[in-house]
Amino acid sequence: MQITADRSSSPTPPLSASPAFGNGLRANRLKTTKQGGKLVNDYWTDLFAAKEDGRKVVWYNGTYIPPFFHAHDVAWVHGEAWSAYLAAKHGEIPAQQAGEARGYDRELCSYARTHIGQALIDMRNVAEGKLGMAPDDPRALTMAKLPPPDMFINAYPYCSSGQQWDDIIYRLYGKRIPIFNVSIPLLWGGRPDAGYLRGQEWDERSQYVARQLRAMTEFLEEHTGRKYDWDRLREVMGFIKQAATLRLEAMDLCTARPAPASFFDWIVSIAHVNFLPGTQAIVDYFQAVKDEIQQRIANGEGAVPNEKYRLFFDGMMNWNKVGWLADKFAAVDATVVAGRYTHMSFWQEPDLVDLKDPVLGMAQNYLICPNNHGAPIMIGEINKLCDKFGIDGMVMHASRTCRGMTNSQFLIADSAKRNGRQALFFEGDVADESFYKDELLNTRLEAMIESMEARRLQAA
Ligand code: SF4
Repeated sequence: MQITADRSSSPTPPLSASPAFGNGLRANRLKTTKQGGKLVNDYWTDLFAAKEDGRKVVWYNGTYIPPFFHAHDVAWVHGEAWSAYLAAKHGEIPAQQAGEARGYDRELCSYARTHIGQALIDMRNVAEGKLGMAPDDPRALTMAKLPPPDMFINAYPYCSSGQQWDDIIYRLYGKRIPIFNVSIPLLWGGRPDAGYLRGQEWDERSQYVARQLRAMTEFLEEHTGRKYDWDRLREVMGFIKQAATLRLEAMDLCTARPAPASFFDWIVSIAHVNFLPGTQAIVDYFQAVKDEIQQRIANGEGAVPNEKYRLFFDGMMNWNKVGWLADKFAAVDATVVAGRYTHMSFWQEPDLVDLKDPVLGMAQNYLICPNNHGAPIMIGEINKLCDKFGIDGMVMHASRTCRGMTNSQFLIADSAKRNGRQALFFEGDVADESFYKDELLNTRLEAMIESMEARRLQAA
């Protein structure tokens, strides 16, 4: 397959190199996230060694099921995380082009397109220099590290792209590698007794997902030839429950003004509750995050040097732009305090997990991914967060290829406006930088700030 070079990786220049935007102040990011970055690197280093260590490797997508793999000593590759990893290193282009060359449209979820593209690339051809990349090209070296799959598992709530993604890779591998699907049904919320964590639908679907998770452990047993270690799962979940609780407590502290941490600090801590191993290290990490936040509150120190406005970020993250966006909002004195992705999507109800028998509570946490709710319940939960954190306005990241998270954004923005909040949309993408429109965001952000300021003057 020929990989064309019609798109080049052109990372946005540092904010300091762009025309002046705002007051030039930069985000005051948490120091502990550096410690967290080491944990992420350790995970990848361990994964890259999985085959040499004799471990089987499962490629999976969807919700945060790695505790099941960890407890069974199987290495795991989260497709989204791998695509984000490549994007963060600006190494995603060859994989995306391989996907496009095979006919996967650029409008397809760029996470999926990147991961499928990686699966399509025959690394032997790279080694022979046949794909327009030298064998020692850093992008080729990065892609070559990913251990190939022994199993596929899909457990994707709400999004049909996510649900089909592993099946496509299963086909690309000639249907020779076993696959298991966990169906996580929507919580429509339409019955009279329905509500957040309650109602007949909630009870039935919780049991339905729990049954499938138990069946998934049988699949793991079958393809490893080993008995499932339930004690180990309880141990792993003990660490995760502690870490998730500390994380939520630390998030709650950000009702303080100025907010001591921002959405961008929480974004770089997603991996720790999404796919890193459940060990004492993630407990220590979130304890350190909480300690730093408490210290900042004591010092009156904010995540944005001169906080005047508080915003909510809606949509999937634009992984090429984390630092860039953090600085952009800081430059207009706006703290992005919370977000749907960070504050509603990972182990949001740790108390549901009974460590004596954790499966049902795990299933319930997977079910309450915000996008898995019908819109009225999801938007109700967003509005509660906005009230709690004193949000003035919403920033809607209209991620071009992530339909799963954008399809409800007009409803969310309407609700925000009805509740007296501003809302802006900006274009970007999860892992395809070419969709990001910086000037559009600048213009709309300045307009929103002016409007918020005018409203405050009127109210004064
Ligand atoms: S479209 Fe969005 S929600 Fe769906 S698989 Fe891609 S990133 Fe996930």
